[in-house]
Amino acid sequence: MDDLLNRLFASISAEHLRDLTYEMVRIPSPTGDAEDVTAYYVQQLRALGLEVQVLNDFPRSPSTVTRLLGKPGGLTLTLDGHLDTIHTSHAAPYIEGDRIVGRGAGDMKSGIAAMVETARVLLENDVRLNGNLILATHSLHEAPVGHMQGLKALLARGDVFVDAALVTEGQCDALPIRGKGQALYECEITREGKALHENEARPLGIPNPLDYAVKLAGRMLEYNAAWAQKPDPLLGPETFFLGQIHSGDFYNRVPAKAFMNGVHRYWPDKSWEDVERMFNQLIASVEKPAGLQIDTKLFGNGLGYEVNPDEQIVSALRSAYQTVVGEALQLVGALSVSDVNVIAREGGIPVVAHGTGSTTAHADVEWVNVSDIVRSTQVYLATVITYLGVQG
Ligand SMILES: [Zn+2]
Repeated sequence: MDDLLNRLFASISAEHLRDLTYEMVRIPSPTGDAEDVTAYYVQQLRALGLEVQVLNDFPRSPSTVTRLLGKPGGLTLTLDGHLDTIHTSHAAPYIEGDRIVGRGAGDMKSGIAAMVETARVLLENDVRLNGNLILATHSLHEAPVGHMQGLKALLARGDVFVDAALVTEGQCDALPIRGKGQALYECEITREGKALHENEARPLGIPNPLDYAVKLAGRMLEYNAAWAQKPDPLLGPETFFLGQIHSGDFYNRVPAKAFMNGVHRYWPDKSWEDVERMFNQLIASVEKPAGLQIDTKLFGNGLGYEVNPDEQIVSALRSAYQTVVGEALQLVGALSVSDVNVIAREGGIPVVAHGTGSTTAHADVEWVNVSDIVRSTQVYLATVITYLGVQG
């Protein structure tokens, strides 16, 4: 096995990884407009002699499925990534030494390039896997434009995510095995009539929407205080985060409207119904004065998840990391949602994430080091070989 891995590692081309990543970064793909970069990616795989299935479920955001079939009846491992980037503008891409700079370099065209290189190295070395390797890409990932529709449609097909998955973005020095779920909330509080002096309003019993927003926010902080008493060892406590409260335009005028929003992060044991029930109870626990109209909305953005640390894909990735890096890959919790949440909860399969070392996703200046992409490609190859096994 070590001989094989050494041979495969020696076949990884840093130049190829650099060029692939850079070319994909040079093709803009803000969420909703990923057709061109997907075409380039497909061309790379077809040039290796692979058959690529292009799925046009969503206009200008195609998904792809590429299969490296091994021994029938073996396990199937899916490498997964997204080809869209956030819309926030970025200076023109460039290469400086070991570093590729540009929108999508870290999040996550380098991960996609590493997937292509993994396939190329396996094919070039004529590795006959004991199972099947699938490369899956999709778009419509980045909020607020995307809602993971591409990934969800791939999951719904039933034959793309089969036994286990490895998402090629995220941390590269720790492995999350529990992740929080995320719900965005909004609350709009309105009353009839226009803004007026507080001394005119009070005798008439006209309520202040701002008072209600403050009480609701106060109740959320009470929940936080109670949750803080029982933190999860990997995830900390469940939380309400207050993102915005907007209301009022003058120090003694009663506004006609208040608006608040934020995020609720919750544990993996919760269903969406549990989350809705808790939120409705919270709203009901704040007294609503007559004359106020309260409109609340709760949007799900990925349920929490848990992966059993004894799963084969977890041990395969950890042993691959140990082989490549020479250190143990620590098990941690994930506070933000990613493809992993959706694959674990909607696909019902064990899933791990391992990125290419970039810490600048969504930053003003986004970059990735070629040497880190090489290392991640080594980890992917070793994981594939360990998890699927080789024939002969
Ligand atoms: Zn990403």
